[in-house]
Amino acid sequence: MRPFELTAPATLDAALATPGTFLAGGTTLVDLMKLNVLTPQHVLDINELPLRGIDTSDGLRIGALERMADIAAHPGVYPAISRALLLSASQQLRNMASIGGNLLQRTRCTYFRDVATPCNKREPGSGCPALTGANRMHALLGTSDHCVATHASDVAVALVALDAEITLRSEDGERVVALADFYRLPGNTPHTARRGSTTRRRTWR
Ligand SMILES: Cc1cc2nc3c(=O)[nH]c(=O)nc-3n(C[C@H](O)[C@H](O)[C@H](O)COP(=O)(O)OP(=O)(O)OC[C@H]3O[C@@H](n4cnc5c(N)ncnc54)[C@H](O)[C@@H]3O)c2cc1C
Ligand code: SF4
Repeated sequence: MRPFELTAPATLDAALATPGTFLAGGTTLVDLMKLNVLTPQHVLDINELPLRGIDTSDGLRIGALERMADIAAHPGVYPAISRALLLSASQQLRNMASIGGNLLQRTRCTYFRDVATPCNKREPGSGCPALTGANRMHALLGTSDHCVATHASDVAVALVALDAEITLRSEDGERVVALADFYRLPGNTPHTARRGSTTRRRTWR
């Protein structure tokens, strides 16, 4: 693991204005840093930011930092969402992992997580060994000649089925997009997995 700077911005505006990689529960980010797949120089711990809350007063609105376990246990959360969460990872991980981090987690393709192998998603133009290699858990639909990986989030599938929207916030302001439109098919640029992938996400509803 390489040295990096860790800070905790006090406000949303400060977080958005500071270059770096957000840390929520850390259950994916820290793994990928240990594997040298991600090597951020500056990590921003966003856990003190006001991105919590499960509001059922008008539909359902969930803050990005709500933990998967808390959402699954909430009586106002739709069963499809609770069940998808409870089928994800383990109770220990769900206690730590946030819904925002879940939707923004990276693929679990073995080659993506192994820096000794090529991978177009990790290193654009290097190739896709999964096309002919270990691809049993990979995608059947929406693939390209450049990437056949799936997105790893279970709850994203339930949310797309429920027509969920996410609220994205950047220094330019806020916008709401359908979750189904947020993710990209790999095409010939599998390294850009999300639309506006430089825009930081805040909450979805
Ligand atoms: C052993 C294991 C098994 C797993 N099994 C499953 C499974 O079966 N199903 C499943 O769906 N998932 C599974 N996961 C993935 C797990 O759900 C994710 O690791 C977790 O949800 C990530 O949340 P986090 O808060 O820890 O994110 P972090 O690791 O903190 O962050 C993940 C990414 O999201 C970014 N990020 C986080 N929050 C925000 C925000 N608010 N705004 C912008 N960017 C943000 C971070 O910069 C980082 O790039 C598994 C993970 C492990 C380790
Ligand atoms: S399927 Fe995608 S993530 Fe996996 S090796 Fe190919 S390009 Fe990389």
